Amino acid sequence: MVESTQKVPEDGLRINLFPMAAHGFFRKYRDLSQWVLIAVFIALPWIKINGLPAILINLPDRRFTFFGLSFWGHDAPLLFFVLASFSLGLLLATSIWGRVWCGWACPQTITIDGIFRRIETLVEGNYIARKKLHEKPFDNEKIVKGAIKWLLFLTVSIILSHTFFAYFTGPGKLLSMALGSPSKNLTIFLIVNTTTLTILLNFGWFKERFCTIICPYGRLQSVLTDEDSLVVAYDEERGEPRKGSNTKSEEMGDCINCFKCVAVCPTGIDIRRGIQMECIACTSCIDACNEIMRITKKPKGLIRYESENGLKGEKTVFWKMKTNIYLGLTLLSVIGLFLFIFNRSGLDITVLRAHENPYQILKTSNEKTLIANHFTLNLKNQSSLKMEVDIIRVEKVEGTEIEIIAATLPVTILPGKSKKNHIFIKFLKSMLEKRSHHKFQLQITTKSKDITQKYIKEITLAGPV
Ligand code: SF4
Ligand code: SF4
Repeated sequence: MVESTQKVPEDGLRINLFPMAAHGFFRKYRDLSQWVLIAVFIALPWIKINGLPAILINLPDRRFTFFGLSFWGHDAPLLFFVLASFSLGLLLATSIWGRVWCGWACPQTITIDGIFRRIETLVEGNYIARKKLHEKPFDNEKIVKGAIKWLLFLTVSIILSHTFFAYFTGPGKLLSMALGSPSKNLTIFLIVNTTTLTILLNFGWFKERFCTIICPYGRLQSVLTDEDSLVVAYDEERGEPRKGSNTKSEEMGDCINCFKCVAVCPTGIDIRRGIQMECIACTSCIDACNEIMRITKKPKGLIRYESENGLKGEKTVFWKMKTNIYLGLTLLSVIGLFLFIFNRSGLDITVLRAHENPYQILKTSNEKTLIANHFTLNLKNQSSLKMEVDIIRVEKVEGTEIEIIAATLPVTILPGKSKKNHIFIKFLKSMLEKRSHHKFQLQITTKSKDITQKYIKEITLAGPV
Protein backbone atom coordinates (compact mmCIF):
# COMPACT_ATOMS: atom_id res chain seq x y z
CA MET A 1 0.00 0.00 0.00
CA VAL A 2 1.33 3.44 -0.88
CA GLU A 3 0.87 6.76 0.84
CA SER A 4 -2.57 8.26 0.25
CA THR A 5 -3.01 10.82 -2.50
CA GLN A 6 -5.72 12.41 -0.44
CA LYS A 7 -4.14 14.90 1.95
CA VAL A 8 -5.60 16.84 4.83
CA PRO A 9 -5.06 20.52 3.97
CA GLU A 10 -2.66 22.72 5.98
CA ASP A 11 -5.55 24.42 7.76
CA GLY A 12 -6.86 21.00 8.87
CA LEU A 13 -10.34 21.71 7.52
CA ARG A 14 -12.23 19.04 5.62
CA ILE A 15 -11.88 18.72 1.86
CA ASN A 16 -15.29 18.75 0.24
CA LEU A 17 -15.51 16.16 -2.50
CA PHE A 18 -17.96 16.25 -5.37
CA PRO A 19 -17.54 12.89 -7.08
CA MET A 20 -18.66 12.63 -10.66
CA ALA A 21 -21.24 9.90 -11.38
CA ALA A 22 -19.79 6.79 -13.01
CA HIS A 23 -21.69 4.63 -15.48
CA GLY A 24 -20.93 1.14 -16.61
CA PHE A 25 -20.96 -2.56 -15.82
CA PHE A 26 -20.10 -2.34 -12.10
CA ARG A 27 -22.31 0.68 -11.49
CA LYS A 28 -25.29 -1.28 -12.83
CA TYR A 29 -24.75 -4.20 -10.46
CA ARG A 30 -23.91 -1.96 -7.52
CA ASP A 31 -27.22 -0.12 -8.06
CA LEU A 32 -29.04 -3.44 -8.07
CA SER A 33 -27.32 -4.74 -4.93
CA GLN A 34 -27.89 -1.40 -3.16
CA TRP A 35 -31.63 -1.40 -3.88
CA VAL A 36 -32.00 -5.02 -2.83
CA LEU A 37 -30.13 -4.48 0.46
CA ILE A 38 -31.98 -1.25 1.29
CA ALA A 39 -35.34 -2.91 0.50
CA VAL A 40 -34.45 -5.92 2.69
CA PHE A 41 -33.42 -3.63 5.58
CA ILE A 42 -36.69 -1.68 5.42
CA ALA A 43 -38.96 -4.69 4.83
CA LEU A 44 -37.60 -7.19 7.39
CA PRO A 45 -39.31 -5.77 10.52
CA TRP A 46 -42.67 -5.78 8.66
CA ILE A 47 -42.48 -9.40 7.50
CA LYS A 48 -44.17 -11.72 9.98
CA ILE A 49 -43.31 -15.36 10.53
CA ASN A 50 -45.30 -17.32 13.15
CA GLY A 51 -46.96 -14.01 14.07
CA LEU A 52 -43.64 -12.32 14.92
CA PRO A 53 -41.43 -9.93 12.90
CA ALA A 54 -38.77 -11.77 10.88
CA ILE A 55 -36.11 -10.18 13.10
CA LEU A 56 -36.90 -8.79 16.54
CA ILE A 57 -34.32 -8.01 19.22
CA ASN A 58 -36.48 -7.65 22.30
CA LEU A 59 -33.94 -6.50 24.89
CA PRO A 60 -36.27 -6.00 27.91
CA ASP A 61 -37.54 -9.61 27.59
CA ARG A 62 -34.11 -10.85 26.46
CA ARG A 63 -35.84 -12.48 23.51
CA PHE A 64 -34.42 -12.59 19.99
CA THR A 65 -36.62 -13.66 17.13
CA PHE A 66 -34.98 -14.72 13.93
CA PHE A 67 -37.11 -15.94 11.03
CA GLY A 68 -39.65 -17.75 13.20
CA LEU A 69 -37.15 -19.07 15.76
CA SER A 70 -36.99 -17.54 19.22
CA PHE A 71 -33.84 -17.33 21.30
CA TRP A 72 -33.51 -16.22 24.88
CA GLY A 73 -30.90 -14.66 27.10
CA HIS A 74 -29.38 -18.01 28.04
CA ASP A 75 -28.79 -18.80 24.34
CA ALA A 76 -25.72 -16.54 24.50
CA PRO A 77 -23.44 -19.18 22.86
CA LEU A 78 -25.46 -18.55 19.71
CA LEU A 79 -24.16 -14.99 19.65
CA PHE A 80 -20.62 -16.35 19.76
CA PHE A 81 -21.28 -18.55 16.69
CA VAL A 82 -23.01 -15.70 14.81
CA LEU A 83 -20.17 -13.25 15.48
CA ALA A 84 -17.50 -15.86 14.74
CA SER A 85 -19.18 -16.87 11.44
CA PHE A 86 -19.53 -13.24 10.35
CA SER A 87 -16.01 -12.12 11.35
CA LEU A 88 -14.26 -15.17 9.96
CA GLY A 89 -16.35 -15.01 6.77
CA LEU A 90 -15.32 -11.36 6.42
CA LEU A 91 -11.64 -12.28 6.91
CA LEU A 92 -11.98 -14.97 4.25
CA ALA A 93 -13.72 -12.61 1.77
CA THR A 94 -11.16 -9.86 2.42
CA SER A 95 -8.17 -12.14 1.93
CA ILE A 96 -9.56 -13.20 -1.48
CA TRP A 97 -11.50 -10.18 -2.77
CA GLY A 98 -10.03 -7.29 -0.77
CA ARG A 99 -12.55 -4.65 0.32
CA VAL A 100 -15.51 -6.26 -1.40
CA TRP A 101 -17.54 -5.66 1.78
CA CYS A 102 -16.90 -1.89 1.62
CA GLY A 103 -17.84 -1.52 -2.01
CA TRP A 104 -20.84 -3.85 -2.11
CA ALA A 105 -22.38 -4.48 1.28
CA CYS A 106 -21.32 -1.96 3.95
CA PRO A 107 -24.30 0.09 5.26
CA GLN A 108 -22.11 3.22 5.22
CA THR A 109 -21.30 3.13 1.51
CA ILE A 110 -24.70 1.76 0.50
CA THR A 111 -26.60 4.52 2.28
CA ILE A 112 -24.37 7.35 1.06
CA ASP A 113 -24.12 6.12 -2.51
CA GLY A 114 -27.58 4.58 -2.82
CA ILE A 115 -29.65 7.29 -1.10
CA PHE A 116 -27.92 10.47 0.06
CA ARG A 117 -25.79 11.14 -3.03
CA ARG A 118 -28.78 10.49 -5.27
CA ILE A 119 -30.80 13.10 -3.35
CA GLU A 120 -27.89 15.54 -3.62
CA THR A 121 -27.68 15.03 -7.39
CA LEU A 122 -31.44 15.32 -7.75
CA VAL A 123 -31.60 18.63 -5.92
CA GLU A 124 -28.26 20.29 -6.76
CA GLY A 125 -27.35 18.72 -10.08
CA ASN A 126 -24.22 16.93 -11.28
CA TYR A 127 -20.76 17.18 -9.68
CA ILE A 128 -19.89 20.45 -11.48
CA ALA A 129 -23.14 22.13 -10.45
CA ARG A 130 -22.72 20.87 -6.87
CA LYS A 131 -19.16 22.20 -6.67
CA LYS A 132 -20.17 25.58 -8.10
CA LEU A 133 -23.09 25.84 -5.70
CA HIS A 134 -20.83 24.99 -2.76
CA GLU A 135 -18.24 27.60 -3.73
CA LYS A 136 -20.58 30.47 -4.42
CA PRO A 137 -21.70 32.83 -1.63
CA PHE A 138 -25.13 32.36 -0.09
CA ASP A 139 -27.91 33.53 -2.37
CA ASN A 140 -31.53 32.50 -2.87
CA GLU A 141 -30.65 29.48 -5.03
CA LYS A 142 -28.09 28.16 -2.56
CA ILE A 143 -30.44 28.64 0.41
CA VAL A 144 -33.46 27.07 -1.30
CA LYS A 145 -31.55 24.09 -2.73
CA GLY A 146 -29.71 23.56 0.57
CA ALA A 147 -32.99 23.66 2.50
CA ILE A 148 -34.68 21.16 0.16
CA LYS A 149 -31.66 18.84 0.26
CA TRP A 150 -31.38 18.84 4.06
CA LEU A 151 -35.13 18.43 4.44
CA LEU A 152 -35.00 15.33 2.24
CA PHE A 153 -31.91 14.12 4.13
CA LEU A 154 -33.82 14.57 7.38
CA THR A 155 -36.86 12.67 6.06
CA VAL A 156 -34.67 9.75 5.00
CA SER A 157 -32.81 9.84 8.35
CA ILE A 158 -36.12 9.67 10.23
CA ILE A 159 -37.21 6.67 8.13
CA LEU A 160 -33.85 4.93 8.64
CA SER A 161 -33.67 5.54 12.40
CA HIS A 162 -37.26 4.37 12.91
CA THR A 163 -36.64 1.30 10.76
CA PHE A 164 -33.54 0.55 12.82
CA PHE A 165 -35.56 0.79 16.05
CA ALA A 166 -38.34 -1.36 14.60
CA TYR A 167 -35.81 -4.21 14.87
CA PHE A 168 -35.87 -3.69 18.66
CA THR A 169 -39.53 -2.94 19.30
CA GLY A 170 -41.46 -4.36 16.35
CA PRO A 171 -43.09 -1.96 13.85
CA GLY A 172 -46.53 -1.94 15.54
CA LYS A 173 -45.20 -0.86 18.93
CA LEU A 174 -42.85 1.67 17.35
CA LEU A 175 -45.70 3.17 15.34
CA SER A 176 -47.91 3.54 18.40
CA MET A 177 -45.01 5.11 20.33
CA ALA A 178 -44.22 7.45 17.43
CA LEU A 179 -47.86 8.56 17.21
CA GLY A 180 -48.24 8.94 20.98
CA SER A 181 -47.01 11.72 23.22
CA PRO A 182 -43.16 11.84 23.56
CA SER A 183 -43.53 12.25 27.33
CA LYS A 184 -44.94 8.70 27.56
CA ASN A 185 -41.73 7.18 26.14
CA LEU A 186 -39.23 9.93 26.78
CA THR A 187 -36.12 7.69 26.80
CA ILE A 188 -37.01 6.00 23.51
CA PHE A 189 -37.96 9.38 22.05
CA LEU A 190 -34.53 10.82 22.92
CA ILE A 191 -32.64 7.73 21.66
CA VAL A 192 -34.52 7.67 18.33
CA ASN A 193 -33.96 11.39 17.78
CA THR A 194 -30.27 11.16 18.65
CA THR A 195 -29.98 8.28 16.15
CA THR A 196 -31.79 10.37 13.51
CA LEU A 197 -29.32 13.21 14.06
CA THR A 198 -26.33 10.84 13.93
CA ILE A 199 -27.59 9.31 10.66
CA LEU A 200 -28.22 12.77 9.20
CA LEU A 201 -24.74 14.09 10.01
CA ASN A 202 -22.93 10.86 9.17
CA PHE A 203 -24.49 10.21 5.77
CA GLY A 204 -25.34 13.80 4.84
CA TRP A 205 -22.17 15.58 5.92
CA PHE A 206 -19.39 13.24 7.13
CA LYS A 207 -19.89 10.73 4.27
CA GLU A 208 -16.89 8.63 3.14
CA ARG A 209 -14.74 10.41 5.76
CA PHE A 210 -16.06 7.72 8.09
CA CYS A 211 -14.37 5.08 5.89
CA THR A 212 -11.07 6.90 5.66
CA ILE A 213 -10.77 8.27 9.20
CA ILE A 214 -12.82 6.19 11.63
CA CYS A 215 -13.61 2.70 10.31
CA PRO A 216 -11.20 0.16 11.87
CA TYR A 217 -11.83 -2.35 9.08
CA GLY A 218 -10.23 0.03 6.56
CA ARG A 219 -7.15 0.33 8.78
CA LEU A 220 -6.76 -3.45 8.89
CA GLN A 221 -6.52 -3.84 5.11
CA SER A 222 -2.74 -4.02 4.99
CA VAL A 223 -2.76 -7.04 7.31
CA LEU A 224 -5.83 -8.74 5.87
CA THR A 225 -4.93 -8.54 2.19
CA ASP A 226 -1.75 -9.73 0.50
CA GLU A 227 -0.22 -9.81 -2.96
CA ASP A 228 -2.81 -12.40 -4.09
CA SER A 229 -5.93 -10.52 -2.94
CA LEU A 230 -8.09 -9.06 -5.67
CA VAL A 231 -8.23 -5.29 -5.28
CA VAL A 232 -9.22 -2.39 -7.51
CA ALA A 233 -5.86 -1.61 -9.14
CA TYR A 234 -4.33 0.41 -11.95
CA ASP A 235 -2.18 -1.51 -14.44
CA GLU A 236 0.92 0.68 -14.40
CA GLU A 237 2.74 -1.57 -16.86
CA ARG A 238 0.04 -0.90 -19.43
CA GLY A 239 -0.90 2.67 -18.54
CA GLU A 240 2.57 4.29 -18.25
CA PRO A 241 4.10 6.47 -19.46
CA ARG A 242 0.84 8.31 -19.42
CA LYS A 243 0.02 11.13 -21.80
CA GLY A 244 1.57 14.44 -20.80
CA SER A 245 4.27 12.90 -18.62
CA ASN A 246 7.88 14.09 -18.97
CA THR A 247 9.17 10.99 -20.63
CA LYS A 248 11.43 10.48 -23.57
CA SER A 249 9.79 7.18 -24.45
CA GLU A 250 8.46 6.90 -27.99
CA GLU A 251 5.75 4.50 -26.99
CA MET A 252 3.08 5.95 -24.73
CA GLY A 253 0.98 3.95 -22.31
CA ASP A 254 -2.80 3.61 -22.48
CA CYS A 255 -3.53 6.23 -19.80
CA ILE A 256 -4.47 9.49 -21.47
CA ASN A 257 -4.28 11.32 -18.13
CA CYS A 258 -7.91 12.43 -18.34
CA PHE A 259 -8.30 12.27 -14.53
CA LYS A 260 -11.75 10.74 -14.89
CA CYS A 261 -10.78 7.98 -12.44
CA VAL A 262 -9.94 10.67 -9.88
CA ALA A 263 -13.07 12.69 -10.63
CA VAL A 264 -15.40 9.76 -9.84
CA CYS A 265 -13.56 8.67 -6.70
CA PRO A 266 -15.72 9.29 -3.60
CA THR A 267 -12.65 9.34 -1.35
CA GLY A 268 -10.71 11.67 -3.65
CA ILE A 269 -7.68 9.49 -4.33
CA ASP A 270 -5.72 8.82 -7.50
CA ILE A 271 -5.66 5.05 -7.93
CA ARG A 272 -2.74 5.40 -10.36
CA ARG A 273 -0.52 6.10 -7.35
CA GLY A 274 -1.01 2.49 -6.23
CA ILE A 275 -3.23 0.66 -3.74
CA GLN A 276 -4.19 3.05 -0.95
CA MET A 277 -5.92 2.60 2.36
CA GLU A 278 -8.59 5.15 1.37
CA CYS A 279 -9.79 3.02 -1.54
CA ILE A 280 -13.18 1.57 -0.59
CA ALA A 281 -13.30 -0.60 -3.73
CA CYS A 282 -16.39 1.16 -5.03
CA THR A 283 -15.34 0.27 -8.61
CA SER A 284 -16.32 3.73 -9.95
CA CYS A 285 -12.82 4.28 -11.35
CA ILE A 286 -13.04 0.94 -13.21
CA ASP A 287 -16.25 2.04 -14.94
CA ALA A 288 -14.88 5.54 -15.62
CA CYS A 289 -11.65 4.27 -17.13
CA ASN A 290 -13.38 1.54 -19.14
CA GLU A 291 -15.49 4.26 -20.75
CA ILE A 292 -12.30 6.15 -21.72
CA MET A 293 -10.76 2.94 -23.06
CA ARG A 294 -13.88 2.41 -25.15
CA ILE A 295 -13.58 5.94 -26.60
CA THR A 296 -9.83 5.63 -27.26
CA LYS A 297 -10.39 2.14 -28.72
CA LYS A 298 -8.07 0.44 -26.24
CA PRO A 299 -8.86 -2.78 -24.36
CA LYS A 300 -10.87 -2.36 -21.17
CA GLY A 301 -9.34 -3.09 -17.79
CA LEU A 302 -6.58 -0.51 -17.41
CA ILE A 303 -8.10 -0.20 -13.95
CA ARG A 304 -9.60 -3.52 -12.87
CA TYR A 305 -9.99 -6.08 -10.12
CA GLU A 306 -6.51 -7.53 -10.00
CA SER A 307 -3.98 -8.84 -7.49
CA GLU A 308 -0.53 -7.35 -7.01
CA ASN A 309 0.93 -10.59 -8.38
CA GLY A 310 -1.44 -10.41 -11.35
CA LEU A 311 -0.24 -6.86 -12.12
CA LYS A 312 3.34 -8.15 -12.13
CA GLY A 313 2.30 -10.86 -14.62
CA GLU A 314 2.61 -13.57 -11.99
CA LYS A 315 0.06 -16.20 -11.06
CA THR A 316 -2.52 -15.27 -8.44
CA VAL A 317 -2.92 -17.99 -5.83
CA PHE A 318 -6.21 -17.69 -3.96
CA TRP A 319 -6.20 -20.96 -2.09
CA LYS A 320 -3.20 -21.05 0.16
CA MET A 321 -2.56 -21.80 3.83
CA LYS A 322 -4.03 -18.50 5.11
CA THR A 323 -7.26 -18.67 3.09
CA ASN A 324 -7.66 -22.37 3.84
CA ILE A 325 -7.41 -21.66 7.57
CA TYR A 326 -9.98 -18.84 7.26
CA LEU A 327 -12.26 -21.12 5.23
CA GLY A 328 -11.92 -23.99 7.72
CA LEU A 329 -12.65 -21.75 10.71
CA THR A 330 -15.61 -20.10 8.95
CA LEU A 331 -17.10 -23.50 8.10
CA LEU A 332 -16.59 -24.71 11.68
CA SER A 333 -18.38 -21.65 13.05
CA VAL A 334 -21.27 -22.01 10.59
CA ILE A 335 -21.60 -25.74 11.38
CA GLY A 336 -21.47 -24.90 15.11
CA LEU A 337 -24.21 -22.32 14.58
CA PHE A 338 -26.50 -24.77 12.76
CA LEU A 339 -25.84 -27.55 15.29
CA PHE A 340 -26.67 -25.16 18.12
CA ILE A 341 -29.91 -24.05 16.43
CA PHE A 342 -31.13 -27.51 15.44
CA ASN A 343 -30.17 -29.26 18.67
CA ARG A 344 -31.80 -26.62 20.80
CA SER A 345 -34.72 -27.99 22.76
CA GLY A 346 -38.07 -26.16 22.65
CA LEU A 347 -38.62 -27.04 26.31
CA ASP A 348 -36.01 -26.57 28.98
CA ILE A 349 -36.58 -29.07 31.80
CA THR A 350 -34.94 -28.93 35.22
CA VAL A 351 -35.84 -31.56 37.79
CA LEU A 352 -34.67 -31.00 41.35
CA ARG A 353 -35.23 -33.22 44.34
CA ALA A 354 -37.36 -31.41 46.94
CA HIS A 355 -35.47 -30.07 49.96
CA GLU A 356 -37.18 -32.20 52.59
CA ASN A 357 -36.60 -35.96 53.03
CA PRO A 358 -35.16 -37.64 49.97
CA TYR A 359 -37.95 -40.21 50.22
CA GLN A 360 -41.03 -41.09 52.24
CA ILE A 361 -42.31 -44.55 53.10
CA LEU A 362 -45.99 -44.30 52.30
CA LYS A 363 -47.60 -47.50 53.48
CA THR A 364 -47.01 -51.14 53.96
CA SER A 365 -49.72 -53.44 52.67
CA ASN A 366 -49.71 -56.95 51.39
CA GLU A 367 -46.07 -57.13 52.41
CA LYS A 368 -45.35 -54.48 49.80
CA THR A 369 -43.79 -51.15 50.74
CA LEU A 370 -44.52 -48.04 48.70
CA ILE A 371 -41.97 -45.23 48.47
CA ALA A 372 -42.67 -41.64 47.38
CA ASN A 373 -40.12 -39.17 46.04
CA HIS A 374 -40.91 -35.47 45.77
CA PHE A 375 -39.38 -33.39 42.94
CA THR A 376 -39.80 -29.87 41.66
CA LEU A 377 -40.06 -29.67 37.93
CA ASN A 378 -39.12 -26.35 36.28
CA LEU A 379 -40.36 -26.03 32.71
CA LYS A 380 -39.34 -23.20 30.40
CA ASN A 381 -40.92 -22.72 26.99
CA GLN A 382 -38.02 -21.76 24.72
CA SER A 383 -40.03 -21.87 21.52
CA SER A 384 -41.97 -19.04 19.88
CA LEU A 385 -45.34 -20.81 20.33
CA LYS A 386 -47.71 -21.40 23.22
CA MET A 387 -47.09 -24.87 24.61
CA GLU A 388 -49.24 -27.35 26.58
CA VAL A 389 -47.05 -29.52 28.75
CA ASP A 390 -48.05 -32.77 30.40
CA ILE A 391 -46.40 -35.81 31.87
CA ILE A 392 -46.95 -39.54 31.38
CA ARG A 393 -48.54 -40.63 34.66
CA VAL A 394 -48.02 -44.35 34.87
CA GLU A 395 -45.07 -46.25 33.56
CA LYS A 396 -44.14 -49.90 33.65
CA VAL A 397 -40.62 -50.43 34.87
CA GLU A 398 -39.07 -53.87 35.38
CA GLY A 399 -42.41 -55.61 35.83
CA THR A 400 -43.72 -53.07 38.31
CA GLU A 401 -45.54 -49.78 37.98
CA ILE A 402 -44.42 -46.27 38.75
CA GLU A 403 -47.14 -43.75 39.39
CA ILE A 404 -46.51 -40.04 38.89
CA ILE A 405 -48.74 -37.58 40.70
CA ALA A 406 -48.58 -34.09 39.23
CA ALA A 407 -51.50 -32.00 40.41
CA THR A 408 -50.38 -28.86 38.57
CA LEU A 409 -50.05 -30.58 35.18
CA PRO A 410 -51.05 -30.29 32.33
CA VAL A 411 -50.06 -26.67 32.12
CA THR A 412 -50.01 -24.06 29.33
CA ILE A 413 -46.77 -22.12 29.09
CA LEU A 414 -46.44 -18.99 26.99
CA PRO A 415 -43.29 -18.46 24.85
CA GLY A 416 -40.32 -17.52 27.00
CA LYS A 417 -42.21 -18.19 30.27
CA SER A 418 -41.45 -20.75 32.98
CA LYS A 419 -43.68 -22.78 35.27
CA LYS A 420 -42.72 -24.59 38.44
CA ASN A 421 -44.52 -27.86 39.27
CA HIS A 422 -44.37 -30.36 42.10
CA ILE A 423 -44.40 -34.03 41.23
CA PHE A 424 -44.54 -37.07 43.47
CA ILE A 425 -43.34 -40.40 42.16
CA LYS A 426 -44.70 -43.52 43.85
CA PHE A 427 -43.08 -46.90 43.37
CA LEU A 428 -42.66 -50.27 45.09
CA LYS A 429 -39.69 -50.53 47.38
CA SER A 430 -38.90 -53.90 45.82
CA MET A 431 -37.84 -52.01 42.69
CA LEU A 432 -34.74 -50.80 44.48
CA GLU A 433 -33.71 -54.34 45.53
CA LYS A 434 -30.32 -54.02 47.14
CA ARG A 435 -29.61 -50.52 45.86
CA SER A 436 -30.70 -47.30 47.50
CA HIS A 437 -31.48 -45.63 44.15
CA HIS A 438 -32.88 -46.41 40.76
CA LYS A 439 -32.50 -44.46 37.49
CA PHE A 440 -35.83 -43.60 35.93
CA GLN A 441 -36.82 -41.82 32.72
CA LEU A 442 -39.48 -39.20 33.17
CA GLN A 443 -41.50 -38.69 30.00
CA ILE A 444 -42.84 -35.21 29.30
CA THR A 445 -45.06 -34.37 26.35
CA THR A 446 -45.62 -30.99 24.74
CA LYS A 447 -48.28 -29.89 22.31
CA SER A 448 -48.10 -26.68 20.32
CA LYS A 449 -50.04 -25.97 17.13
CA ASP A 450 -51.05 -29.67 16.82
CA ILE A 451 -47.42 -30.78 16.96
CA THR A 452 -46.76 -33.22 19.79
CA GLN A 453 -43.25 -33.84 21.07
CA LYS A 454 -41.87 -36.12 23.75
CA TYR A 455 -38.98 -35.23 26.05
CA ILE A 456 -37.11 -37.66 28.32
CA LYS A 457 -35.48 -36.58 31.54
CA GLU A 458 -33.52 -39.05 33.59
CA ILE A 459 -33.97 -38.82 37.35
CA THR A 460 -32.90 -40.92 40.29
CA LEU A 461 -35.47 -42.51 42.59
CA ALA A 462 -34.26 -42.96 46.12
CA GLY A 463 -35.42 -45.11 49.05
CA PRO A 464 -34.14 -47.20 51.97
CA VAL A 465 -31.86 -50.15 51.19
S1 SF4 B 1 -9.52 7.22 -16.29
FE1 SF4 B 1 -8.04 5.80 -17.16
S2 SF4 B 1 -7.16 6.96 -18.81
FE2 SF4 B 1 -8.14 8.47 -17.54
S3 SF4 B 1 -6.58 9.11 -16.10
FE3 SF4 B 1 -7.62 7.45 -15.14
S4 SF4 B 1 -6.42 5.66 -15.66
FE4 SF4 B 1 -5.82 7.28 -17.08
S1 SF4 C 1 -9.86 4.39 -6.13
FE1 SF4 C 1 -11.53 3.66 -7.41
S2 SF4 C 1 -12.40 1.94 -6.30
FE2 SF4 C 1 -11.11 3.06 -4.88
S3 SF4 C 1 -12.53 4.44 -3.85
FE3 SF4 C 1 -11.64 5.58 -5.57
S4 SF4 C 1 -13.06 5.24 -7.26
FE4 SF4 C 1 -13.56 3.74 -5.70
